[in-house]
Amino acid sequence: MSESKEILVTGGTGFIGSHTVVALFEQGYTPVILDNCSNSTPSIVKQISLITGKECTFYLGDMRDKAFLKSVFEKHSFEGVIHFAAFKAVAESVEKPLYYYDNNLTSLINLLGCLEEFQVNKIVFSSSCTVYGVENSLKPLNEEMPVGKPNSPYGWTKWMAEQMLIDIAGKTDLRPVFLRYFNPIGAHVSGKLGELPLGPPNNVLPYITQTAAGLRKELTIFGKDYDTPDGTCVRDYIHVMDVAKAHVKSLSYSFDSTFEVFNLGTGKGTSVLELVQLFEKVTGKPLNYQFGPRRSGDVDALFADVSKAKKFLNWNTERTIEDAILDAWKWEQYRLENEIS
Ligand code: NAD
Ligand code: UDP
Repeated sequence: MSESKEILVTGGTGFIGSHTVVALFEQGYTPVILDNCSNSTPSIVKQISLITGKECTFYLGDMRDKAFLKSVFEKHSFEGVIHFAAFKAVAESVEKPLYYYDNNLTSLINLLGCLEEFQVNKIVFSSSCTVYGVENSLKPLNEEMPVGKPNSPYGWTKWMAEQMLIDIAGKTDLRPVFLRYFNPIGAHVSGKLGELPLGPPNNVLPYITQTAAGLRKELTIFGKDYDTPDGTCVRDYIHVMDVAKAHVKSLSYSFDSTFEVFNLGTGKGTSVLELVQLFEKVTGKPLNYQFGPRRSGDVDALFADVSKAKKFLNWNTERTIEDAILDAWKWEQYRLENEIS
């Protein structure tokens, strides 16, 4: 029997990382998690074991610490890396740009140094639809569109990281895949793993589930005068396990070029108001909400053209937005009952 391939998952106790670790185990890989738990908790490693029945090696530490990062590479023989670790709160990045540039770019630079030293050529990078900028809002976004001007330091860190990887791939054997996520939501179908925001959630679905669970008084819908059918912003919400599966597929993607870019979405837009109504319908829980002013940096509508990922990664979404809402609600209740925080 061939030996299972070790994959380093940076940010592996975070929301998308932890679900990807589950998907990697399911496909016979051996994921190794590295995370500083600045936006997650070590207890997630136990939840992963509960689901998979496997023990996952976990290193608690910061990617900005070069010596620490190198010590992890020295202990393993990685086939590839999935790089999730980053700060991701758009509004916070506007307030603290240096904090974001330092964390998101220093972490990547240190990682690239290790990839070169230890001759690892595969990297799957967590990018974001924010790199398209605001210019192309209201049309399905495809990978041929030029990257635009992101509207936050967070967005610029993704834009710069992609450029850094492209430049290095042109001169070395590094073969990066950029996955540009739209709006990952949901939780593992078991309800034992999900998104665990530290403090008040920035993202809409965890805010909805926490409101329904009585942890928050009401959801504020930011803006009702957008250029969309019901006036609230439209986004492309995709189940986190479908996102996770695309990472596993990306590891075995065979390259014709030096780097590749794929959008991960469903291709369908849903407004914030529709999301709230769907939540009420599938859970049977009424939700307290009010309308408030627009949130700075938001754009009317963002949704993906996902034909490229379907064709080249042989990937398809398997779960609906209703599945994602139900799984997120199951997780919200499970984590409260089990005091996971
Ligand atoms: P998350 O915050 O849940 O996970 C990121 C993890 O990285 C956290 O566990 C955090 O503790 C860790 N981390 C941050 N800085 C670190 C460092 N210096 N050293 C070690 N660990 C560090 O976020 P997520 O939603 O799982 O997002 C994962 C990636 O996907 C991020 O790069 C994010 O920018 C990107 N992304 C997310 C979304 C989304 O809607 N969730 C959309 C587009 C892109
Ligand atoms: N949103 C909202 N109330 C909240 C959080 C978010 O109305 O408490 C809206 C937000 O304005 C955006 C959509 O929900 O239109 C998705 O926001 P989220 O932060 O989840 O993802 P983003 O699209 O910004 O990455």
